[in-house]
Amino acid sequence: MVSEKELFEFAEKLMPNAYAPYSNFKVVAIAETRSGELFPGVNVENSSYGLTICAERVAVFNAVTNGHRDIDKIYIFTETKEPTSPCGACRQVIAEFNPEATIISYSLSTGKKRQWALKELLPYHFNLS
Ligand SMILES: [Zn+2]
Repeated sequence: MVSEKELFEFAEKLMPNAYAPYSNFKVVAIAETRSGELFPGVNVENSSYGLTICAERVAVFNAVTNGHRDIDKIYIFTETKEPTSPCGACRQVIAEFNPEATIISYSLSTGKKRQWALKELLPYHFNLS
């Protein structure tokens, strides 16, 4: 299992890669599988705004692209004073692969941490069944 120190180092290394020239709100997310593999993502904005994609979804899609759907945890790192929770779209995307996932969010600038069960943030995710 990865340590918080290693997660912070990984996030700090990736943060400059976040592409957020419009909002200046940079985000790193890391999807962790049940076996402990890590798949990172950063937010990527677009001048048309609507095409922007959040770091959480990039991380989930990175895991899926690499053959891993068993997502256990999503770590989120921002430079805000308070830890940030994922947006509604990202909650739904995470729930697609694991409605029981844990979300752990850190502020890189203050070191504050918050943790939620995805079910707290999205009690009734959409599904076709
Ligand atoms: Zn989002």
